[in-house]
Amino acid sequence: MNTLKRIDPRRPFTITADGLKRITLGVTGVTGSLEFPTHGGASHREQAKPRRSTAVPQRVILVAAHADRGALDDHARQTLAGAALIADSATEVVLLVFGEFSGDAAALGADKLIELPMFDRRSFAPLDELNALAACVAAYAPVHIFLPDNATGDGDLGRRYAAAANASVATHVVEIDAAHVAAYVQANTAFAARKLPEVVLLAPNAVDPKLPFVGAGERVMWRFDGEPASQQGVVRDLGIEEIDAAQLALEEADFIVSAGNGVSDVPAFERLAATLGAAIGASRVAVDDGKFTRDKQIGATGKTVEASVYIAFGISGAVQHLQGIKDCRHVIAVNLDASAPIAKRANLTLIADAQETIAALNEAAAAARTARGTGAALLNSTAVVEGALA
Ligand SMILES: Cc1cc2nc3c(=O)[nH]c(=O)nc-3n(C[C@H](O)[C@H](O)[C@H](O)COP(=O)(O)OP(=O)(O)OC[C@H]3O[C@@H](n4cnc5c(N)ncnc54)[C@H](O)[C@@H]3O)c2cc1C
Repeated sequence: MNTLKRIDPRRPFTITADGLKRITLGVTGVTGSLEFPTHGGASHREQAKPRRSTAVPQRVILVAAHADRGALDDHARQTLAGAALIADSATEVVLLVFGEFSGDAAALGADKLIELPMFDRRSFAPLDELNALAACVAAYAPVHIFLPDNATGDGDLGRRYAAAANASVATHVVEIDAAHVAAYVQANTAFAARKLPEVVLLAPNAVDPKLPFVGAGERVMWRFDGEPASQQGVVRDLGIEEIDAAQLALEEADFIVSAGNGVSDVPAFERLAATLGAAIGASRVAVDDGKFTRDKQIGATGKTVEASVYIAFGISGAVQHLQGIKDCRHVIAVNLDASAPIAKRANLTLIADAQETIAALNEAAAAARTARGTGAALLNSTAVVEGALA
């Protein structure tokens, strides 16, 4: 059995369920007192976890983040986990989600969930979001507000709030515990620490998001009555410009179809990518065979990708390839061999011929596009894929 632990030398510290660690040892889980072993939903949960706290809350830590298509991304989950890990038993973790959220808030560590479905990560409404956050802060009077320090809305919102409320703030936080935060400064040549400020903007990967407990996960009906048009004339949303997926760097692609040695009909595969609006990736064997250019290679000696959807056609899932897709959210494998290693990594595996599946998907996607108009968005395409694979 391999007992070697993984070490990420880039992190100064990581906060885990066992406290701060220089070395990421992975999650140990808790086998101790399982006071409240059940929490509704999530049948995939391996083992019931205890509630973090059942004490009457005296304080609140507020975590605010945008949802992306109903879910929080890794960075937002880490931020929520960071709050839950440093919260003591008298502190309640309240999660404020901008956008629709259909995830399991309790499993992510939240005691309360406030969903603001009127907001959408893809639209630009900084003042309305600021008003909503300020109203939530007024309602809950949190001791700290945590947000992921990202470039997709949360980092900006945290800075705006700190400036508007004249609150103490720490940005790009890479190290955190219940008493202090720390960040690199002076172009990463120095490391600065300070006591926990009111607003904490957490850098990615400072917290291990896997928790040994669950939160209460209570959904709160909280109405934000802010006037959505309040910023008219101040901020103008120019919308999102769609670009050809083929022009996108693979590292930035949200939807990737990838071909391995099991793909022989490359033109049909490329047609599928174009129809779905997906970027093209490939295994090293497919690249070595001359079917794709080297910049399409995904894996240890190729690109590392973070797509929401990654479809692997005829790819065995060698360890070097899996290394490149470790951060992908949903992996779908199409392979003739049910025992191929990719099946262990995949969220969904279709035991089928790659060429037949590609042809069927081409037909289904083209039919769906015709029915819905040519402007089919990623979501539609993803639904087509999932529908066709079902
Ligand atoms: C130092 C080093 C670095 C490497 N770096 C990388 C890297 O960055 N990226 C990378 O990908 N690899 C890398 N490799 C190579 C890696 O080990 C594998 O050899 C490679 O990933 C295999 O590619 P594959 O899965 O496409 O091909 P194969 O291993 O040949 O697998 C093909 C798969 O397709 C399935 N299949 C066959 N026909 C069909 C069909 N008609 N329909 C459906 N399924 C079918 C088979 O069941 C099989 O699972 C590296 C290797 C080394 C030693």
